[in-house]
Amino acid sequence: MIAQAQEILARLISFRPVSSDTNLPLIQFCRDWLSANHIESTVVPSAAGDKASLYATIGPKVPGGIVLSGHTDVVPVAGQAWATDPWVLTESDARLFGRGTSDMLGFVALVLAAAPMFRDAGLRRPVHIALSYDEEVGCKGGRILVEAMANALPAPVAVIVGEPTGNELVNGHKAYLQLNTLVRGHSVHSSRPDLGASAVAVAARLVCWLDDVQYSNMHDPSLHDDRFDPPYTTLHCGVLKGGTSPTAIADRATFSTDIRTVPCEDTHVYLQRFSGFAAELETRSLRPDGPRCSVEIEVVTDIPGLHPEENSTAEAFMQSVGLPCIGKTFPGGTEAGLFQQAGWSTILFGPGELIRAHKADEYIEIAELVESLATLQRIASRMAEG
Ligand SMILES: [Zn+2]
Repeated sequence: MIAQAQEILARLISFRPVSSDTNLPLIQFCRDWLSANHIESTVVPSAAGDKASLYATIGPKVPGGIVLSGHTDVVPVAGQAWATDPWVLTESDARLFGRGTSDMLGFVALVLAAAPMFRDAGLRRPVHIALSYDEEVGCKGGRILVEAMANALPAPVAVIVGEPTGNELVNGHKAYLQLNTLVRGHSVHSSRPDLGASAVAVAARLVCWLDDVQYSNMHDPSLHDDRFDPPYTTLHCGVLKGGTSPTAIADRATFSTDIRTVPCEDTHVYLQRFSGFAAELETRSLRPDGPRCSVEIEVVTDIPGLHPEENSTAEAFMQSVGLPCIGKTFPGGTEAGLFQQAGWSTILFGPGELIRAHKADEYIEIAELVESLATLQRIASRMAEG
């Protein structure tokens, strides 16, 4: 089965499924593979129709199943110095090199290779496969997919999102909110700032606010969750642009914001606080009747966190197949929180390591696939028991 998974992985990578491009050929390939193995699947297209997710149910359509979930998109390779062709799966020293091998086409390939095993296992509870698009650019496909699945399928006992966790169970990650802020000012000669409104000054104050809040979070242990590194909510501006001339009041400034909250906090509360401070700055002027800046805040990405669950049925299930939860958390955002918001108990578990992802010479070890497969086999036996 590992050889089969390797073959499928090579095919998946050969589609070059970067988030910016269509994933339809890849989804068609997955659909054909399942159909050749007598497994029906449902395609969930994007609104524009240029991308699609897919889900399939193996076994009876009853409650108490397992969802094996993966995203089919990968990040680009532009500007990275690869030793091999990132779009040709290359084996060397029991490692498989290629874009997406760890994050997370390796898991997707393994699940597809295991589909015939699930089909023949005499399942009394179902195994559902869920494949999404655009996870790397804000979990867009996952949102529509989870909605479609929640409407169509009886509730599972566990959703396993196969992100690269080194084959360990992960039950939490921070929520993620990405914003773009546009500040509009009023440009005049810099000798008369009282007649203008500086977009750069307002943007700078907002960026400093982010940094100040982060700093105060760091100093407030009541907001800490020690399972995370760092253990507090972070706020960060990665890109800041504004102004046209040293002698003109800037009429425009833009900046990005990245907020990652620990489970005891809420990204939207930070958004409210940030918007509140922006509104305060909008009232400021150097003259009573002078021009003021305006601030527009756009939400670019909004990914719910994965909250560690009390009495998690997903954790209990994984424990029953030999994988105890050790309270590990994940540094990045994933689709797991979307499943959890639908009321489905969710954990992360998959082969590979996140540290190898998104960079040159990404790889997965064949041994890691073998180890994951052993878990999938135990899952099949468990679901056959009823
Ligand atoms: Zn991923």
